[in-house]
Amino acid sequence: MLIIFRPDATPADRARALGLIESLGLGHRTLEVPPRTILAVLDGTGRVDPARFGGLPGVEAVIPLNRPYRMVAREWRPEATVVRLPGGITVGGRDLFIVAGPCAVESEEQLLATARAVKAAGAVALRGGAFKPRTSPYSFQGLGEEGLGLLARARKETGLLLVTEALDEAGLEQVARTADLIQIGARNMQNYALLKRAGRSGKPVLLKRGPTASLNDWLMAAEYVLSEGNPDVILCERGIRGQDGSGRVLFDLNAVAAVKLLTHLPVMADPSHGTGKRSLVPAAARAATAAGADGLIIEVHVNPEAALSDGVQSLYPEQFELLMGEIRGIAAAIGRGVAGK
Ligand code: PEP
Ligand code: MN
Repeated sequence: MLIIFRPDATPADRARALGLIESLGLGHRTLEVPPRTILAVLDGTGRVDPARFGGLPGVEAVIPLNRPYRMVAREWRPEATVVRLPGGITVGGRDLFIVAGPCAVESEEQLLATARAVKAAGAVALRGGAFKPRTSPYSFQGLGEEGLGLLARARKETGLLLVTEALDEAGLEQVARTADLIQIGARNMQNYALLKRAGRSGKPVLLKRGPTASLNDWLMAAEYVLSEGNPDVILCERGIRGQDGSGRVLFDLNAVAAVKLLTHLPVMADPSHGTGKRSLVPAAARAATAAGADGLIIEVHVNPEAALSDGVQSLYPEQFELLMGEIRGIAAAIGRGVAGK
């Protein structure tokens, strides 16, 4: 890190900062750039918090040079992580991983009909929450264990892989027994106890970005999972909160490209929660593909008008089928394919 002193910093101010550096066992170099003095601190461990120096008398600014995360960083592992799922499906390689299905598992009929439709359109995985994080405690909370059973039945019948959410630590093992990929939802992105548990689950994790999370917050959350021994984390951009007070979701595709420069982990995109409106989902899905997303997770429902959650952003099966054709075209144009037949 670089510690930049104010022009009026006193010798005592500089001595205080130097004392702290030496007490931490760190090396340093002094640069005189009149009217300022700059201390370059040699912190090979990256474990010293730059904030410790920010409040010292006479210090104008502290510029961290190390990234706060380690295992998720490109510097740690220059080659892309390819997450391997059952059936030879990979995420983070050449082919895009397409997940589709309802927001929530509602009934056997709804789930199986939707599963068949998304499979026929070319998805390789089925999404559907058995445990739903809802803004209101009075909204449908999911079918719980029964929902997991229905998901397993849909997988058996269609061969689709399963992506479903673990809401809390207590339920994580149960979800891990059924899911091929455990979703950690946006609201839970900074639930560190849940992240640590997911790090010990033995199953790959789909880590959605929190609606107010910076890229740094998101990557630090992924670091929790990796640091517990689970290298199989897939990041997922799902829209962030706008600043204009309108409640409109901002689908941050810029983040997909930016985060791929910072990390070796695969990055997916969720155009359904990323836009919140059915009419915007196909355009956002095409754009995410073009932006370099390694996969898409899209809400599709056979009867969205009757959906118990997120019907307004769920595609009709025929819209999803059309979109799959467009995704294939865009993927081909950028030298990629789509997983599955
Ligand atoms: C979902 O996938 O239905 C969901 C609740 O997603 P998020 O956590 O991104 O809001
Ligand atoms: Mn949803």
